[in-house]
Amino acid sequence: MNAPTTFRAVRIVVVGGGAGGLELVTQLGKKLGRSGRAEITLIDSSRTHIWKPLLHEVAAGTLDSHDDELEYLAQASENHFRFVLGRMNGLDRANKLVRLAPLFSAGGEQIMPERTYPYDLLVIAVGSICNDFGIPGVAEHCMFLDTTEEAELFQNRLLEAYLRAQAAGGASQPGELDVAIVGGGATGIELSAQLYQAARLLSSYGLDNIKPSDIKIHILEAAPTLLAGLPERLSRATLQQLESLGIDVRLGVKVVEVTEAGMRTESGEFIRAAAKVWAAGVKAPDFLKDIDGLETNRINQLVVGPTLQTTRDDDIYAIGDCAACVWPGKGIYVPPRAQSAHQMASLVLSNLRSRLQGKSQKNFKYLDYGSLVSLGKYSTVGNLMGNLMGSVMVEGFIARLVYLSLYKMHQLALFGPFRVVLLMISSFFRKRIQPKIKLH
Ligand SMILES: Cc1cc2nc3c(=O)[nH]c(=O)nc-3n(C[C@H](O)[C@H](O)[C@H](O)COP(=O)(O)OP(=O)(O)OC[C@H]3O[C@@H](n4cnc5c(N)ncnc54)[C@H](O)[C@@H]3O)c2cc1C
Repeated sequence: MNAPTTFRAVRIVVVGGGAGGLELVTQLGKKLGRSGRAEITLIDSSRTHIWKPLLHEVAAGTLDSHDDELEYLAQASENHFRFVLGRMNGLDRANKLVRLAPLFSAGGEQIMPERTYPYDLLVIAVGSICNDFGIPGVAEHCMFLDTTEEAELFQNRLLEAYLRAQAAGGASQPGELDVAIVGGGATGIELSAQLYQAARLLSSYGLDNIKPSDIKIHILEAAPTLLAGLPERLSRATLQQLESLGIDVRLGVKVVEVTEAGMRTESGEFIRAAAKVWAAGVKAPDFLKDIDGLETNRINQLVVGPTLQTTRDDDIYAIGDCAACVWPGKGIYVPPRAQSAHQMASLVLSNLRSRLQGKSQKNFKYLDYGSLVSLGKYSTVGNLMGNLMGSVMVEGFIARLVYLSLYKMHQLALFGPFRVVLLMISSFFRKRIQPKIKLH
């Protein structure tokens, strides 16, 4: 008698549950995990997810991260995938294993040892981190907005500086409450507007020894314009808006050193600031560099072909900020944005399903729907349909609606329409009963 053949479902592992990875794994769970056609696993180094474009609001305190975060374990159990807590630090392609670093508690106690996790098909979606370009003092003295923990730490320090100055009867030293942000891209600009709003909210909550005008916010950008790569009129409109708020924007200024007290520029000028934020460019995490022979570019991104499979291993895909995918006809890589991660997740979902059915895979076509920059409650500016039918500049209410719709699309992919409506209702009421800024 023949031995019974054992069926084993294909193991699809997604590492990184961010803007791209979490959408992908949720849809894979629904489409393949539920029916048992594949075993779907998400590995992430964090236990919760927050949509990264909200981090500047968390940093300024205008958003409480707990209001908008998602528990991976709950999402997994509702959507037919498994969640594994772990930080990927290597790969064994020959044996098809993801290597995971040991896990430690906040107190330094080891919770889990170094491990490996098996896969048949792997999707790497670990996003990006800030690139300090090796400039002296940045790593030691600057804050970054790469994770929720960093954004919360920034908010905490800001609040402590305010409370200290309030107790002392006001700011006693130059730059004591000032913030210097390096990088005139969307992150730096959006953070500056949120901080401007936060300063006004804090004095309205009784920290009245500090006048909002005591706080200077500087944006330092090496390029001659803000929002490099986007239409000039958009960058001009943004500059005007920031200047009307009194934010000090310096263009063509290169920071060469950061110290405890502030930042030194190439021309020798020293800008004093207690809080220093680095938001000038990104790179993929360092562990990806030359990871088990996969091809990477100079900023550690995994080079992928048109189907988003890595160039040296068809069983490994990369999506989002950590993928270097050529934008056909443009001669540049697809930009690291939430909309790119969203579109890549959709294509890999379709390609993995085709692959399991023995069908051919599709090529990635990036559609640039434009870029929007939110200046908090003051304004939103942007250009729509950037590369589809010429760019249409939008401002104000319409721009705000389109900006908010990006996040709603992410929520729709994760929760479906019914829950998104419930979330909108609960957020409406929460905003009416909670303080407008996080005060702890
Ligand atoms: C403050 C800010 C504002 C932004 N605003 C906008 C905007 O308005 N519009 C826009 O289009 N884009 C914006 N972006 C960029 C956008 O957030 C990113 O392009 C997008 O999140 C990339 O998605 P991703 O899936 O590649 O990675 P991410 O969303 O960054 O997710 C990566 C995931 O991988 C996990 N991870 C990382 N390393 C490991 C590891 N070693 N092992 C396991 N898990 C790991 C992380 O915990 C995270 O969950 C903004 C970014 C920031 C920081």
